Amino acid sequence: MKKQTRKQKKKQKQKILIKRAIKIICLLFAIIIIYNIIKGITKENESEELIQAFAQNSKILETVEKTPFAKVSRYIVYGTHFNIEGSLELPENTSQIQNVEVIAKNLAGEEVIIDSEYTYNDNLIEFTTLSKINTGLDLESLQVTDYYILLKVIYSNEEEKYYSLENNTEYGEINYYTLTRNNSNNKIYINFSKAQDIPFLGFNITKSKLPKDVYDVVIDPGHGGNDGGAVSGNHIEADIVLDCALDLKEKLENIGLKVLITRDGTESSEEYTANNMYDEDGRVTLANKSGAKILISLHLNSNEVKLSAGGVEVYAPTNSNLDFAKTLAENIVDNANTNYSQMETYKEEEGVYVREIDISKRNNSVAYNSNSYKGIFDTVPYLYIIRETGGIATGAYVDGSSPGYSENIYRNSNVGVESYLIELGYMNVRKDLNNILQNSDLYVEAIVKSVKEFYGID
Ligand SMILES: [Zn+2]
Repeated sequence: MKKQTRKQKKKQKQKILIKRAIKIICLLFAIIIIYNIIKGITKENESEELIQAFAQNSKILETVEKTPFAKVSRYIVYGTHFNIEGSLELPENTSQIQNVEVIAKNLAGEEVIIDSEYTYNDNLIEFTTLSKINTGLDLESLQVTDYYILLKVIYSNEEEKYYSLENNTEYGEINYYTLTRNNSNNKIYINFSKAQDIPFLGFNITKSKLPKDVYDVVIDPGHGGNDGGAVSGNHIEADIVLDCALDLKEKLENIGLKVLITRDGTESSEEYTANNMYDEDGRVTLANKSGAKILISLHLNSNEVKLSAGGVEVYAPTNSNLDFAKTLAENIVDNANTNYSQMETYKEEEGVYVREIDISKRNNSVAYNSNSYKGIFDTVPYLYIIRETGGIATGAYVDGSSPGYSENIYRNSNVGVESYLIELGYMNVRKDLNNILQNSDLYVEAIVKSVKEFYGID
């Protein structure tokens, strides 16, 4: 081996150092490039959305009248449906009207007609899609694009004009997440905005995942804590429905749904009394802030007047389409080998009940001892878990002015959970109690089947 001179050694060292420096610089460049690519992708998505939104604005807003605009007095998301009402003042000497439709129009120009009613007097159109709180625009059926809610007026001379909507309410944006299907959700951003001097109500729909605090379904096992509910021998309603609820949670999760339970048996005996259901961790508050679309509350019945036939009763919200309640009752009767309850009070259909109360006549009772119910419906669902989880759609009204009841801070919400209360059977009817104790899985399977069937979840 040739002996290296000092000079040569020095040169070699320098070479190695330069090589190392180049390597480090290259690595730094690579990191900067990768960082910028990632940054670029996110930026590109953002700007793409903006460009898309702008394109849609110009395209759809070009087709609407520059004036007047319809004034929205109310808009509500209840369960999986969107509803709206308001008015449009047309100029004097407007020609006769043939029809008025509330539509959702997307970028492709497709129109979804939302079932609505209208009146027309003295150039004023008043419209509503709210004949039922759980029908209207099915948010689960919308495509991943942008929609605009418009009023379409068809005049007697066949002329069609589109009118944009202006917000005349105290409410702002709504973020709605569709039910989880195949591990995927759509986020629907509902907001009033303005472009080209035209106010509009737009839905921006993107593919999304459920945020940490948003759920699909809430299960509410009735009673709990120091409230056992109905008792028969040594059987306690709160315990039986908790077992069913935990099983239901697991089975709904098995079909991919994200489920919140309002109690899991670990609650202390001071919790879940009648008085704290509106507290921060109370079942009404938990349900309201869950972002869930459906709530199912499980109970067992008991009656002094012994209805020997027992059977199932599904309680549904006021002013609602009863199809899901009917599906629940039918499937439970079929699958769990039970029968519809024979109780006739509040009965709407076989096994389906709507328990309303005229609160103006009940202001002597503690829960109704409140002056704040002015302006809500005359009749509201009596059962608080249905009424107080629906916000303005169901006429929630517990405002904290009644002694012993804290405030339902969501009572004025324009987003509500569609809630059902199921009385699986009668504790004091031997046949029912035995069936529920031995075959609770058949009841639970019937509820899961109903959710799958009705909401189209595989
Ligand atoms: Zn109960």
